[in-house]
Amino acid sequence: MNQGTRFCPYCEEFLPLDDFGHNAAMKDARQKKCRVCSQIYTYQNCAKYWGLTSMTAAQWRALCKEYDHKCAACGKAEFLTVDHIEPYHAGSKFKGGFDLDNVQPLCLRCNSKKGQRIIDYRLAKRAGVSLEAKADAD
Ligand SMILES: [Zn+2]
Ligand SMILES: [Zn+2]
Repeated sequence: MNQGTRFCPYCEEFLPLDDFGHNAAMKDARQKKCRVCSQIYTYQNCAKYWGLTSMTAAQWRALCKEYDHKCAACGKAEFLTVDHIEPYHAGSKFKGGFDLDNVQPLCLRCNSKKGQRIIDYRLAKRAGVSLEAKADAD
């Protein structure tokens, strides 16, 4: 048994304990899903609700790796949260989807700072590096 790691049944990987959020209701006070899976799971459910497709956990991990696990906005190596560049709000002008092409990795601070605005931080990265991360064309 690995000391200091925990098995996530969703991505089926052993991960450091810090990759699991706090949950007082659990035996070891950790969430069942790792933080990555928790995020993706939430958005996948959301997408399903609206009849849309969504990015997979594997796609998200690959994207984070492309960004060297750094925030697309401030460049700090922090825990990365899923930011939907154009948010999806049914019945409003925002119609961004949950797929990889509408997603960028942001730290919590940059994500909440951005809020509901449409700011594409990927452009800066693309200016230097060619990113062909699109899983499929439309
Ligand atoms: Zn996981
Ligand atoms: Zn940031």
